[in-house]
Amino acid sequence: MSDSKRLELFSVCDQAESVGIGGHVRPDGDCVGSCLACYLFLKRKYPDKRIELFLEKPAEIFCCIAGFDEINSEFPEREPFDVFFVVDCAADRLGEAESYFRAAKYTVNIDHHISNENGCGIENVIDVNASSTAELMYGLIGKENLDAGIAKAIYIGMIHDTGVFHYSCTSPKTLRIAADLIEYGFDFPKIIDETFYEKTYVQNQILGRAVLESFLFMDGKCIVGSISRKTMEFYGAEPKDLDGIVNQLRITKGVEVAIFLYETDTLTYKVSLRSCGGVDVARIAAFFGGGGHVRAAGCTMTGTFHDVVNNLSAEIAKQL
Ligand code: AMP
Ligand code: MN
Ligand code: MN
Repeated sequence: MSDSKRLELFSVCDQAESVGIGGHVRPDGDCVGSCLACYLFLKRKYPDKRIELFLEKPAEIFCCIAGFDEINSEFPEREPFDVFFVVDCAADRLGEAESYFRAAKYTVNIDHHISNENGCGIENVIDVNASSTAELMYGLIGKENLDAGIAKAIYIGMIHDTGVFHYSCTSPKTLRIAADLIEYGFDFPKIIDETFYEKTYVQNQILGRAVLESFLFMDGKCIVGSISRKTMEFYGAEPKDLDGIVNQLRITKGVEVAIFLYETDTLTYKVSLRSCGGVDVARIAAFFGGGGHVRAAGCTMTGTFHDVVNNLSAEIAKQL
């Protein structure tokens, strides 16, 4: 990305009085990290402007990122923003913040999802080859404009979307950026443990349940696991306690596609899909109204558990 592109992008805020930033519902590490990096940078660059970040309440594990306590998780009606940034998603996944995007005078979309190739903003920075939106944010902010807080936010975003630099979205560039970031001296082994690997007792119990009750189909090429609302209630679990289950299912030997479902409402399931590369799950998710990446995607589907699995199987079978 050229320097002029970078300057152009954030200079849209020069004339603005109010700037809003929003990311997707059920914000993951990349969403929280890239939104906070953007927020911290804009706050420092424009100390006198009203800059606000809106996200559904993120998991407490991300409280180690500067600015975490300043995230707004309520979405009151308000005057339109002069500029609104949509980060790590398209506008349709902003949840309640979508109304701020619709009303904003100028909009910028920064994302890496293949399902959002064209972007939803007036200005769009979409790079489907970036490992994470955090990696993209690094390029936009520029190495020379980082500080310790921004560096840590970007690093956390990157480790989450790359599975600590092991998914195939990790590129030499990703690792070079990570090298620059750890120069800031934060305790990265601790950050990786505490934000990525560590599970609460309840999270481990639910993971165990989902794995125990999972089953293989299509000659062992697919695996499906699920958690019902009843089980969620039994454990007092929230959706964010289910992160990582689908990744555990995917590494089952012989599996090409892993599916994880949880019930969000009666006959409504949030679906997470993971692939080992042979099947493009972004295409499958997009078919059912969702999106994502070739190897990691998601959507929401209605029907009974069996309807959902059957409908997904039919689409997977077309590719296998
Ligand atoms: P998940 O399975 O929810 O962890 O999502 C896997 C990937 O797909 C992430 O990059 C999500 O941002 C993306 N994704 C999940 N659900 C959707 C959706 N409904 N629309 C677009 N992208 C999605
Ligand atoms: Mn995300
Ligand atoms: Mn992402």
